[in-house]
Amino acid sequence: MSEPLILIIAAALFGLCIGSFLNVVIYRLPLGQSLATPPSRCRKCGYSLRWFDNIPVISWLLLRGRCRKCGAGVSWQYPAVELITGALFVLVVWLTPLGPLMVSRLLFVCILIALFGIDLEHQILPNSITLPGIAIGLLLSLIAPPGWQAALLGALLGAGILYGIAWAYYLWRREEGMGMGDVKMLAMIGAFLGWKAVLVTLVLSSFSGAIIGVILMSAQRGGMKFALPFGTFLSIGALIAMFAGEPLVAWYAGFL
Ligand SMILES: [Zn+2]
Repeated sequence: MSEPLILIIAAALFGLCIGSFLNVVIYRLPLGQSLATPPSRCRKCGYSLRWFDNIPVISWLLLRGRCRKCGAGVSWQYPAVELITGALFVLVVWLTPLGPLMVSRLLFVCILIALFGIDLEHQILPNSITLPGIAIGLLLSLIAPPGWQAALLGALLGAGILYGIAWAYYLWRREEGMGMGDVKMLAMIGAFLGWKAVLVTLVLSSFSGAIIGVILMSAQRGGMKFALPFGTFLSIGALIAMFAGEPLVAWYAGFL
């Protein structure tokens, strides 16, 4: 709230560019491809994007969502990821004092967007993101809120709750209902945000999952066949917990 306008604008531009990189991560990481080379290409004709084809959001708008060479459609998800990253960077910089906490939150936002996109497209939460994420969250907690005790407790609680649920479900149904990816992801959320935020995240993602699930099911009328990836809801829940966790807890405590 006290940040000067120039910093907010810088955050927006930086976020748009990082969002462009996150698109590469979301597309290539699950396929085991290098994130650095080759430069981005058209998926249809292989045309290598030049720098002016690769300006976040703007190039997509100028080319009307098509490849410059072959005219194949380019998904709206690319500019959407860029815009969301830019907007979340602005929110973080606006609401967080300059310092290690701001760095921690910017990094956390990037990880959540990548996991959201990958889980939505591929239904996996790669260990190569969640495991380093746990370590980075714990390390940053040494110099930034929530502090190492809350972070360590958060990682253990996050892993413990979902592991417990997965285990109970297995005993009940004799089949796996929840992936270990979700377990590691909630542990990572705990490492970044602390144990209280783990509980807030879990409540928010279960609620949003239930609401969206009901909407999709009634729209499809097809019964409960498809499974929505829980990691996408964990991302949404964690973002809300990060920005509004404390007021939410205070508001809820007001009823007790
Ligand atoms: Zn093309």
